[in-house]
Amino acid sequence: MIAATANAKINLGLHVARLDRDGFHQVAGLFQSIGWSDRLEMADGADGITGWDGGEVPDGADNTAWRAVEAVRRRLESRRSVSLRLDKRIPVAAGLGGGSTDAAAALQLACRWLGAPSSLAAELAADIGSDVPFCLEGGTALVTGRGEQVAALPAVLGYALAVVVPPVELSTADVYRAWDDLGGPAATPLPAGNLPPGLRSHAPLGNDLYPAAVAVAPLVAEWRHELEARWGRPVAMTGSGPTLFGFFVDRDEAEAAVAGIPTGARAAKAVVPVTNGWSMLANGENDGLDSPT
Ligand code: ATP
Repeated sequence: MIAATANAKINLGLHVARLDRDGFHQVAGLFQSIGWSDRLEMADGADGITGWDGGEVPDGADNTAWRAVEAVRRRLESRRSVSLRLDKRIPVAAGLGGGSTDAAAALQLACRWLGAPSSLAAELAADIGSDVPFCLEGGTALVTGRGEQVAALPAVLGYALAVVVPPVELSTADVYRAWDDLGGPAATPLPAGNLPPGLRSHAPLGNDLYPAAVAVAPLVAEWRHELEARWGRPVAMTGSGPTLFGFFVDRDEAEAAVAGIPTGARAAKAVVPVTNGWSMLANGENDGLDSPT
């Protein structure tokens, strides 16, 4: 058996451009891997993916992690059975890139298990999902194009985030459609003085999808205002939402911030930025992470 952790991502900033000729939105975003992870295990056994308790995560060919395994097998023309177990901890449809990071880790696991070079993972990533190339690279990166162009940046660490998932799931496609319907609004950037020092050179940072997420689910704005009042600082949204986050000096401060949030959130967690999108675990090693939040 081999195992890996797959880290969620936060969009520290996300700029969206109008639809291109092929019907895709071009983006330019500052992406950051964070210490909120799923765990995947690969072994011989019954072919398929298992592991979570029903709910919103799809089965089989609709699961991004399984699609990653199939893509590697197809390329290698391998018929070897693969048993994949997914321990799902990252909230689904939250703007945290859970499906993409599972796919990135599953690509790496499948390459190793089936004896392919890990460079095959990078070749296959963009076809599985637009955030998969970033999740393979991980850390701090500037992501452009449809998400397939990933320029690694020097890691910006030394701060913490309080991350809160309001009680709604947002479909990325619905939010982009709303953004088009609104005429492609631009974000109001966070004041540079409120960013951690290491991020100030990346200002202005804002998320163009925020007005669209609010159009689809107005409670995202209610949660944002509530958190800003409680935390006494600006709060931003990641990806297509609804997940919101605020910057704190260290994990202790971020933990105190999430301890006081209103009831009803889908999840809340204090996290720190990390330098990798995924990591292989030694045989049987526990990833040292706590249970689902
Ligand atoms: P992003 O930020 O990349 O736009 P997200 O974090 O908002 O994505 P995901 O958690 O990746 O959203 O889930 C989006 C949809 O993908 C889910 O509604 C689910 O149906 C589907 N999905 C497929 N595979 C997975 C997976 N391994 N984990 C979570 N969702 C998955």
